[in-house]
Amino acid sequence: MIVAVDGPAGSGKGTITKIISQRMGLVNLDTGATYRCVALASLRAGLTLNDEQKIIDLIDTLDIKIEHQDGEIKVFLNGEDVSKEIRSSEVTKIVSPISSIIPVRLKMVELQRKMAEGKDVIMEGRDIGTYVFPNAEVKIYLDADVNERAKRRYKENQEKGIECTYEDVLDNIKKRDENDKNKEIGALKVAENAIILDSTNLTIDEVADEVEKIIKNAK
Ligand code: C5P
Repeated sequence: MIVAVDGPAGSGKGTITKIISQRMGLVNLDTGATYRCVALASLRAGLTLNDEQKIIDLIDTLDIKIEHQDGEIKVFLNGEDVSKEIRSSEVTKIVSPISSIIPVRLKMVELQRKMAEGKDVIMEGRDIGTYVFPNAEVKIYLDADVNERAKRRYKENQEKGIECTYEDVLDNIKKRDENDKNKEIGALKVAENAIILDSTNLTIDEVADEVEKIIKNAK
């Protein structure tokens, strides 16, 4: 079974997929993490957004793995745990334009499909229900007011010790949403048959209960 959870930055996809994967025994796959690994590796290699071909070439040297330890998602880049580093402001700033590079997308989508092979998964991203798994049994589009999303992400960053200001977070979310909605391949949009959940005025538990109900109904 594939459960696709798409939606804009900070809409709560990560929080909800983690809860549901624990409640329902689904493998939790965060596709944004794969693009973040490419962004991190590019920064480390001293590449900028002008080095498109070099970024594309770099991908073949990357081994990206998503593992689960004690209910947490761990992301490994060439064997190194980069779970925290891929959330840094530097990575967050360049990840959206990097994920717009078509060969980068095609390679990451191939990897994401492989990661899900033979498993029951809950997969979060922007294009899971529209492009990565258009035949997913359940499609959810999670949304929330942009100011609420920025507030949540700012709080989460503070808890994780990621340096940023609220204004930066809001600005970054707006820019990423705009870029993500206008991608040539895998643009952020509501998939056909997707159920839209607006979490602006809902608690985490309320959203999780609703998602659980939707998945149970589909089963
Ligand atoms: O979900 P997260 O915020 O970690 O994703 C980082 C970025 O990766 C997004 O802003 C988006 O540009 C890109 N992304 C994507 N397709 C996905 C998941 C993420 O283009 N399926």
